[in-house]
Amino acid sequence: MSCWTVVCRDGTFNQDLGEYLARPVPGEWEEWIYPSHHKYRLSVSETESAWSLAKALAEYLVVVRVDDWLRALLRRRYPSSDLQAEQFIMDRVHNILTADPDRVDDRLNWASAAIFRHAQQATAVVVDGVQWFLLQDIWREFEEAIDEAIDAYLLDEEYHAFVNVLRQLVREAKNRIDWIHVHFQPRRFYFETPAGERVGDALIDDMLDQADAEHGDVGDILVSALVTLAPRWITVHRGGLEDAGRDILLAVFDGHVLFCRGCGRCFRPRLDTDQQSF
Ligand SMILES: [Zn+2]
Repeated sequence: MSCWTVVCRDGTFNQDLGEYLARPVPGEWEEWIYPSHHKYRLSVSETESAWSLAKALAEYLVVVRVDDWLRALLRRRYPSSDLQAEQFIMDRVHNILTADPDRVDDRLNWASAAIFRHAQQATAVVVDGVQWFLLQDIWREFEEAIDEAIDAYLLDEEYHAFVNVLRQLVREAKNRIDWIHVHFQPRRFYFETPAGERVGDALIDDMLDQADAEHGDVGDILVSALVTLAPRWITVHRGGLEDAGRDILLAVFDGHVLFCRGCGRCFRPRLDTDQQSF
């Protein structure tokens, strides 16, 4: 006859831990409810029950109630009353932790093995101790994912704040041009009105010269130049604009950006340089 006592002081786990463990682990279960903790005693005749108990407890902590554990870690790391921010970070943490399904299985197997080794030597299993001491490697991995998610959140916040500043600059600009067409050349771009007149050449040259010295990105310079001229509509022709630049233009100009799918102008340079065509 073997006997284990599982002690749980965490109020969030008290609600259903006993029931969760009793389902897959056969034996005689007794439960005591105290104001500060819950106690469950399991009496079994077979010693293999240590493995079933370890596996059930690991699954409870690492899979079933993993959100509670992650939230507790997050609130310790980044105390915030902003529930939307918390959810953004939690979603990101989930993506990081479940990106590799093998790693999810490894984590569960490793936790089961650690609790099993402990249960073989001890008759008392204190859930808080298991979580914070026995499964240290797991919560350290959780913390790394949380830190990464917090960084992503803060970066996202900064990005939105930056986009908002640019939007405001565009909205408040005086003498806005109605429409600018953006054409690209290797490592540079130029602007034209729909009638084909060049605009902003001096500004673009200045910005590109300055950026050359600082190894600036053409997409960033394009956004700055367009914010300065603040057109109401923009057509971006084919060329050197990356996805990040497209996203920021759409955000700053409230979606008033069209992307050319290939007009005569876009394809002309290719025809001119294609020696085989002539
Ligand atoms: Zn075009």
